[in-house]
Amino acid sequence: MNIKKYFSKPVDKKAQNTAGNGQEKAKSPKYLTKLAQIPQLSEIERSDLEKVSEEFVFRTNDYYQSLIDWNDPNDPIRRIVMPDVRELDDWGQLDASNEEKYTKVKGLEHKYTSTALLLVNEVCAAYCRFCFRKRLFMDENDEVTKDITEGLEYIREHPEITNVLLTGGDPMIMSTSKLEPIIQQIREIDHVKIIRIGTKIPAFNPYKILNDPSLHEMIKTYSTDEKKIYIMAHFNHPRELTEVAVKGLNMLMQSGAIVVNQTPLIKGVNDDPDILAELFNRLSFIGVPPYYVFLCRPTLGNEPFAIPVEEGYKIFEEARKKCSGLAKRSRLVMSHETGKVEMVGMSDGQVFFKYNRSVDIENDGKFLVFDSNPDAYWFDDYEEAHMIFPREYSMKTLVS
Ligand code: SF4
Repeated sequence: MNIKKYFSKPVDKKAQNTAGNGQEKAKSPKYLTKLAQIPQLSEIERSDLEKVSEEFVFRTNDYYQSLIDWNDPNDPIRRIVMPDVRELDDWGQLDASNEEKYTKVKGLEHKYTSTALLLVNEVCAAYCRFCFRKRLFMDENDEVTKDITEGLEYIREHPEITNVLLTGGDPMIMSTSKLEPIIQQIREIDHVKIIRIGTKIPAFNPYKILNDPSLHEMIKTYSTDEKKIYIMAHFNHPRELTEVAVKGLNMLMQSGAIVVNQTPLIKGVNDDPDILAELFNRLSFIGVPPYYVFLCRPTLGNEPFAIPVEEGYKIFEEARKKCSGLAKRSRLVMSHETGKVEMVGMSDGQVFFKYNRSVDIENDGKFLVFDSNPDAYWFDDYEEAHMIFPREYSMKTLVS
């Protein structure tokens, strides 16, 4: 692994750029979009993987590549970003949670009452092989728009929307000069309190944060005492928390953003309780609460990354045993078409789920009991629930 070149090179003080705030201007990674740019691949591997990248786009950068241990064919960082021939197996659907159903105007999804999503970008700093939105990177996609006029109008007309999530793609790959007007216009809508930015830039390219003082100014301006900007970071494995990534996270927090982390549970990446616990604990040390852990949606091509629901729950619980209270704040959920279904327990051949968020408000907090199905990869793989407790009933049961 050659991450050294990124942060232990002696600095030539004269040649050194500064980012305007006394901060060393670090080098920017070089983007790599062709498998021919990955010298570690053999000819045979490259030719096999070309077929995958023709189907599902490939992109990485030399910083992120430097985190890969090429001596390990199952290296977790490699699994995140390098194509896998099994992606071509016929499994899953392109839009596994039917996000299209919640698209109200171009580029805006409104699924949960208080939260709207603005899909502002269809590019990421690198492409995760397990991405559930890979459809956005395909030519025929038209769910994303850079013109958010209609989306903003929709938000203005819906006072129940208190949270707006900027997503895509990765909004933080945009220059701050493009991102700021979006944030500014959302901030002008009084009923929107929280602006979230979903991003893997802190993991894929922390230099984008370190090199951009205008980003910090923007966060300082629009993350106020009363209305915060939340950065929804996306670290999957503790090895992504390099010295420079941690620096980037701290810069975001020092600028006034609240940073949390969410990750899918991914086969061969973080499906080991020790690894997952290390990720949770290290995030908590930095001051970044682990938020959601997602069971992989059954998205087209994602079988090599998916973990059965009940196996995932066991891994998650084992990891939590190794964590402090602060490190075990995440919830294990499925982002199902009907809502965020949390897996809360298993016992004697039964599994227990609870709606953490639901499209139908009547379902919010609803507790469901199903017969165990070790082969289930998704909520739909469970037969009809044989016990359902509405929220009120569960509460009465608890206090009686
Ligand atoms: S950063 Fe997010 S949107 Fe981009 S490829 Fe990864 S999972 Fe998909």
